[in-house]
Amino acid sequence: MQAYPENAFDNGVRFLLSNKVIGITTEGGKVKTVQTTGEELETKYIINCVGLYCDDIAEMVGKGEYKIVARKGPFFILDKNTSCQVNHIVLLIPTKIPRASIMAPGTRPAGLYTAGSAQACGFLPDHY
Ligand SMILES: Cc1cc2nc3c(=O)[nH]c(=O)nc-3n(C[C@H](O)[C@H](O)[C@H](O)COP(=O)(O)OP(=O)(O)OC[C@H]3O[C@@H](n4cnc5c(N)ncnc54)[C@H](O)[C@@H]3O)c2cc1C
Repeated sequence: MQAYPENAFDNGVRFLLSNKVIGITTEGGKVKTVQTTGEELETKYIINCVGLYCDDIAEMVGKGEYKIVARKGPFFILDKNTSCQVNHIVLLIPTKIPRASIMAPGTRPAGLYTAGSAQACGFLPDHY
């Protein structure tokens, strides 16, 4: 994964680390500038890839009609001798209320692990 940013850097990408995006201006439905805690940038395009906070960025350009709701749940490490072995990751068909149910082969000596009772945690960490 480290090769991607290195390659981007070699091709002229400038990284503004520790610059939080705090605002975006638009004109005629098009992106004009991005305000960060460090500097203001002029741009024609934005890729919204801020993970759990993508709804905040969407809202800055008037597209905030969705909200990310954080969920958390436990992982259980099963004994390696359990009778319910799987050879690859098994995911449940998604339900209306996501439970993050998953079974996966673990690395020895841990055996399998599974999770299945994710619940809304109602907050996101207040940092980026
Ligand atoms: C505890 C945990 C365990 C996980 N384990 C696994 C696993 O084993 N396998 C797996 O495949 N996935 C796992 N995931 C999920 C995986 O981490 C995510 O799916 C993946 O990181 C999402 O990548 P992303 O680039 O979309 O977002 P992120 O990795 O979240 O990157 C978003 C970036 O945007 C930055 N950012 C946010 N807001 C702003 C802003 N306003 N201005 C500037 N920058 C901002 C953040 O600082 C962050 O660097 C796990 C997640 C968690 C929380």
